[in-house]
Amino acid sequence: MKRLICLFVFSSLLLATSCDENNNFIVFSVQDDVALGQQVKAEIMANPEYKILSESQYPQVYAYLNGMKNEILNSGKLAYKEEFAWELHVIHDDNVLNAFATPGGYIYIYTGLIKYLDNADDLAGVLGHELAHADERHTVRNLQKAYGVNALLAIALGQNPSALQEIAAQIAGSLAGLSFSRDFEREADANSVEYLSQTKYACNGAATFFIKLEEQGGGQPPEFLSTHPNPENRIEDINKKAEELDCDTSLSNDTGYASLKSALP
Ligand SMILES: [Zn+2]
Repeated sequence: MKRLICLFVFSSLLLATSCDENNNFIVFSVQDDVALGQQVKAEIMANPEYKILSESQYPQVYAYLNGMKNEILNSGKLAYKEEFAWELHVIHDDNVLNAFATPGGYIYIYTGLIKYLDNADDLAGVLGHELAHADERHTVRNLQKAYGVNALLAIALGQNPSALQEIAAQIAGSLAGLSFSRDFEREADANSVEYLSQTKYACNGAATFFIKLEEQGGGQPPEFLSTHPNPENRIEDINKKAEELDCDTSLSNDTGYASLKSALP
């Protein structure tokens, strides 16, 4: 049905564009996503607020996290596995329980989140959720609406530094105004289950985070918690999806998570 609607919009507008791999009507090209992601990355790297752990200083951390990321990418469930960068960076801030993704597959994880979670499956669930936001091109779909296609293209080409700065801050969550809709969050949760169903990780790993956050309360609301839907509904939806797929919800025997935590600064 999604494709039918998409084709209808396409043919009736006679635009020189098409639906993307996930049947979304997006004028921005997949290459533009990567270009914009690179611009946002340059912005984040140049901003001293984000203390990025370097791969040369923390090889063990990156080897572990990239292994997890690759296992999810190899699920065969992502539309842009080959096209996007799927580059992962760790930000040193123990007070932030967050992770975020930029267009084009640049993923950022805070040390606070890694330390907060108890096992690999929990983090894999959150990572799956963030990979899904990038793969479903949620940010670009939001930005296209907010800025218009032409302005957004200029930003991706580096022609509007102040707008780029604003977008980077919005994506990283320090500036309000770009929160995902309920539907986008649901979709990212559901995709996480689907991706993880093809890995060694518990396919409902994303739910564990919400359960833990509910139990303990407090903390800065992370991107994947957003403002809505509420955690209980999300736990329920994630578990419903896992039931539907009949996928394995038992914890993996990944024993490297404790070593990952102790390798962090
Ligand atoms: Zn999210």
